[in-house]
Amino acid sequence: MSQRMQQGQPMIIMGEDAQRVKDRDAQEYNIAAARAVAEAVRSTLGPKGMDKMLVDSMGDVTITNDGVTILKEMDIDNPTAEMIVEVAETQESEAGDGTTTAVAIAGELLKNAEDLLEQDIHPTAIIKGFHLASQKAREEIDDIAESVDPNDEELLQKVAETSMTGKSSELNKELLGQLIVDAVKQVTVEADDGSYVVDLENISIETQTGRSASESELLNGAVIDKDPVHDDMPTQFDEAKTLLLNEPIEVEEADVDTQVSIDSPDQLQKFLDQEEKQLKDKVQKIVDSGADVVFCQKGIDDLAQHFLAKEGILAVRRTKKSDIKFLKNVAGGSVVSDLDSVTEADLGTASVRRDDEDELFYVEGLGDSTHGVTMLLRGSTDHVVDELERGVEDALDVVATTVSDGRVLAGGGAIEVELASRLRNYADSVSGREQLAVEAFADALELVPRVLAENAGLDSIDTLVDLRAAHEDGESRAGLNVFSGDVEDTFEAGIVEPAHAKEQAVSSATEAANLVLKIDDIIAAGDLSTSGGDDEGGAPAGGMGGMGGMGGAM
Ligand code: ADP
Ligand code: MG
Repeated sequence: MSQRMQQGQPMIIMGEDAQRVKDRDAQEYNIAAARAVAEAVRSTLGPKGMDKMLVDSMGDVTITNDGVTILKEMDIDNPTAEMIVEVAETQESEAGDGTTTAVAIAGELLKNAEDLLEQDIHPTAIIKGFHLASQKAREEIDDIAESVDPNDEELLQKVAETSMTGKSSELNKELLGQLIVDAVKQVTVEADDGSYVVDLENISIETQTGRSASESELLNGAVIDKDPVHDDMPTQFDEAKTLLLNEPIEVEEADVDTQVSIDSPDQLQKFLDQEEKQLKDKVQKIVDSGADVVFCQKGIDDLAQHFLAKEGILAVRRTKKSDIKFLKNVAGGSVVSDLDSVTEADLGTASVRRDDEDELFYVEGLGDSTHGVTMLLRGSTDHVVDELERGVEDALDVVATTVSDGRVLAGGGAIEVELASRLRNYADSVSGREQLAVEAFADALELVPRVLAENAGLDSIDTLVDLRAAHEDGESRAGLNVFSGDVEDTFEAGIVEPAHAKEQAVSSATEAANLVLKIDDIIAAGDLSTSGGDDEGGAPAGGMGGMGGMGGAM
């Protein structure tokens, strides 16, 4: 109707700077952006993958091999590329590991989809085929997976070590693997229905620089990296009553608009006395409650510090919120936010020790209902410790997932090649053009062993040929062991991964690829080619925003 009203004149509905890319151009643009992201992390995949050094706008340096960390730090400013970053984030939150795999598969799915689009296959058929293949793949993962006894520490140790291989944690993977398996065991409870529930909230990770990673340890309870507020406070308690406080022990600030006018020295003294009394009252309430140790999340006034020391109470200020929460698990009691109402029932019970060399407090719960263990990771420098922590966090998640899910797979590309082979058989039963998409999906999964080989300096084609042959012979656990360079039963070789993480990687990669493929029209309010903000040339025609020079830069 409106067109008729315009009498053939083109109707302008978009602003002057707006840009529109349609159909094949839109797909090409999106696929290129998504693939650029996938390619940026590919070289880190597997034990022989390399690390990346990321420098943020403040000049802070992160050295990492962790897919999700790389993508988060890269400050990607392209909407399609961001969709791929979300794959990594979903993978991280759902499985804790496998982020590089998920992103690499998403990129490869799109690359293969592009070939199909070039053959004039409609995106709808590709999307449908990918969806079918993803469903089938997850069914097959369940069929291939082997079940784990949650008490099989030897196997769990292998799962932890596989996750750490190739990270800086690898050097001490035996020790760290043991700590991880022990930690997970301590926070696992068997539910009434026989399933196992792992509460990772009860594991805290604390890092300390200065000593070697081989001196990392697992401690019962919490480790608090803080100093006492006053030198004269006691620091060793076999059995302390602990108070967790979420209120400052300071003079209450007068309202902003109240003015205190002081006209004489007398009045000033009175004012100061009043402040002192307020602080004394607060400290008295702590004394009355029976607390020996106070972990305060907020500040503690100098005068109050002095009063507390005089009462023989240990006080720590500006304790991290996460530490307070964890201390509650460890020592029991509640977090008090109003000193007026504090009673003995709010206190927890713990032994508190100060290690003067490490400058850390060790807090170990003594009550019945107390939980919580701390992994104290050590390393020579901040960069080392940070990357160690990322590796250990992934491995913790992976072991926890394995215990609660109870299924594992052979790694080193074994599962991907087996899935690819099963999907190709399945493709025969799929009619129409969707069949081609299922086959393209199978090919995409084989990216994993190809890249593992490539990153290890091996011939990826030879490896894939060997792998396919082995799987055709029924060796469903044949994978690439990058250390021997051979195709072998990777499960036997101790390369073991949780099934849940692989299922998640397959499904989130598929969802992202399909999301990108569904788009046939990009309408941008600004200029697409500059939406990245910082592209200095390098961006291909059609515009890739800030993604332009990325492939080369990484
Ligand atoms: P992601 O972020 O996807 O976890 P990683 O860099 O951690 O990426 O690599 C994981 C891949 O490395 C998995 O496919 C795993 O099976 C494989 N892998 C681990 N150890 C070995 C090994 N010794 N030989 C070959 N592949 C391995
Ligand atoms: Mg990993």
